Amino acid sequence: MKDDTLQALELVDEEAQRYLASLEEQPVKLPHADEAAQSLTADFPEEGMGALQALRTLTSTGMEAATRSSGPRFFHFVTGGGTPAALAADWLASVLDQNSFSWVSSPLGTRLEAISVDWLKELFYLPASWGGILTTGTTTAHITALAAARGWWAERHGVDADQEGLTGLPPVPVFTSGYVHTTALKALSVLGLGRSRARILSNDPTGKLDLHALRHELRGLNGAPAIVIATAGEVNAGHFDPIAAMADLAAEFGAWLHVDGAFGLFAAASPRTTRLLEGVERAQSVVSDGHKWLNVPYDCGFAFLREPERLARTFTISADYISGLVDAHPDFGHLGLESSRRARSLAVWATLRAYGRSGYRTMVERHLDLAQRIAQQVDAAPDLERLAEVPLNIVCFRYHPPGVPEEELDRLNERLGAAVLTDGRVYAGTTRYAGKVALRPAVTNWRTAEADVDLLVEVIRELGARLPLPSAS
Ligand SMILES: *Cc1c(COP(=O)(O)O)cnc(C)c1O
Repeated sequence: MKDDTLQALELVDEEAQRYLASLEEQPVKLPHADEAAQSLTADFPEEGMGALQALRTLTSTGMEAATRSSGPRFFHFVTGGGTPAALAADWLASVLDQNSFSWVSSPLGTRLEAISVDWLKELFYLPASWGGILTTGTTTAHITALAAARGWWAERHGVDADQEGLTGLPPVPVFTSGYVHTTALKALSVLGLGRSRARILSNDPTGKLDLHALRHELRGLNGAPAIVIATAGEVNAGHFDPIAAMADLAAEFGAWLHVDGAFGLFAAASPRTTRLLEGVERAQSVVSDGHKWLNVPYDCGFAFLREPERLARTFTISADYISGLVDAHPDFGHLGLESSRRARSLAVWATLRAYGRSGYRTMVERHLDLAQRIAQQVDAAPDLERLAEVPLNIVCFRYHPPGVPEEELDRLNERLGAAVLTDGRVYAGTTRYAGKVALRPAVTNWRTAEADVDLLVEVIRELGARLPLPSAS
């Protein structure tokens, strides 16, 4: 294996410059992206082609096939890009290749992670006394935080669930609203609590919490512990559960309040939206994402806990060869799912150090303005119908040309959604909001500007107008 590392890095550096420069002009999906991805042969090579040739193949095919999701016109899901500081620091994380398991394996990674968690708590106005950990995303942050909740719940029943498991215990009561994200349910599944144990308390087609039902259910437990999951920013329209009221009930009935703020936690960055998060500081656990609104590259999320020492009970590993722990420092490998861990802290630290609180406030507020701009254009367009308020960065609307009957609209919007993705100039996805098929672009990328959201609305209307309408007989 000859050492052509530097040449390989130079090759990638050149290609990266070309790619990044093209993000502004190129469509989100190039016309032959699918074919390019398919063209990668699945035959395992007996003889290697060498690093440079492999990298050339990867870059030439990769640049064709890659979804420009880190560019300014990707409004699907809730997707950020990498800020300049975050992207470069993420490259550096691969060069330095630190194992952020412990202080012994990497003082650098450990120190930067501790600082990153502290800075994020400041950004989100979470109590300084809380602890936290970087994860691969909100899904794993859910698993991390809800493992602590599971331990707390079993402890209230006199059982150490981390040692003994849950056998013999009653089902864990979990209450939430229709805003709950599917990954929170996935975490319940992973943790043995049961995906469908989560009781969704809502009598509203949009999923809004029935607060009276929550009070009723918690009171009905007669003092037995429960887990309440609140969503700060749901994915259809950016709605928030009433966190303060849920925190009141959790305190009154002794429940664990877990808040999913995968992107919504960034409402804290602007005085215009911070009230949406009122009460979040009274939760037991809060989770969020780095690869969404923080705009660091995949993958990155965070779990914050009021009692971080609970994490160690689930996640500590021990073996004779893992010795030499340095007591004064947190060993993040004992606090989360992964043991050997990528130094995600480099990107988080770098972007927060580069742009600070004010940089994030400015970006979040620009995105709030852009979402309102989309909403205004939707409201002004005779063929578009807005379906929800726009509290944050998501605009939920549908194509609704005059005269098309209600029963045709779902199919029309499904076809429009597919046409948008095939067209590729902009990316936006569809959902079902209050039973209606709708588009729900989210503005999360630091590069996105007015011209990009204008194009989004323009493309949607253009493609909508080209769809064959059902005969208006
Ligand atoms: C994206 C999202 C998640 C899942 O986050 P991943 O980073 O994809 O694991 C969870 N909850 C909400 C509200 C989200 O928007």
